[in-house]
Amino acid sequence: MKDKGLIPQLSLLCQLQEIDLQIKQVKEEISQIPRKIKEWKGELVEREEKIKELKKKREELIIQGKEKELELGSKEEITKKYQGQLYTTKTNKEYSSLLHEIEETKRVSSQMEDEILMSMEKIEVEEESIRKESKELEEKSKEIEIEEQKENKRLKGLEENLKDKQAERNKFIPGIDNTLLAKYERIFQAKGGVALVPVIGGSCGGCHVQLTPQNVQIVKQGGKPTICEGCARILYWKENLEQPKG
Ligand SMILES: [Zn+2]
Repeated sequence: MKDKGLIPQLSLLCQLQEIDLQIKQVKEEISQIPRKIKEWKGELVEREEKIKELKKKREELIIQGKEKELELGSKEEITKKYQGQLYTTKTNKEYSSLLHEIEETKRVSSQMEDEILMSMEKIEVEEESIRKESKELEEKSKEIEIEEQKENKRLKGLEENLKDKQAERNKFIPGIDNTLLAKYERIFQAKGGVALVPVIGGSCGGCHVQLTPQNVQIVKQGGKPTICEGCARILYWKENLEQPKG
């Protein structure tokens, strides 16, 4: 049976609010878990992208290196051809001109060899980075997999906890006046929690606005529900309420 007196009603509401605040906190914790997991997975995708970029760069270097090697091969062919021609030249001018060509081709070839070596070194550096990044990715994946399992286990626990708290909440509902409950719930939603506040030193315990002595008196007497003019929360007199059990 409902006890319609305001003070016992506020006492019940106070206990309900305690549970509602716990429910709110559990729900927040639950909602953070998928967010956290998504963030971790995002980090893995970023790492994968980075490795892809490194591999692409390595492929480009390999292609460039092969092109240079082909070019070098043809330069060496040309040098050989000129060297063969040296024996069949008729004039000194032709001879020295060929020698000059050979020198020039050799110079270019040697430059190309340096470039090929350099590009091989660059490929080596890229490969080292790929190895390092891949190893880190593997470790991170394992780490996240374990963390994800932990979080999913925690999620199950929180969901159980939430169910228990909601069942506990439901036990209070029949005892509370419907109009008062609706008012409380509306304020709880609007304020993002805490709809019921005590009067502390003549002020609202929610927004600290100074209350008129008349209003303080009304709250103390517990004749009718009093709303704070500052924050629109329901006020109560702490000493009036029974201590919540437990
Ligand atoms: Zn207030």
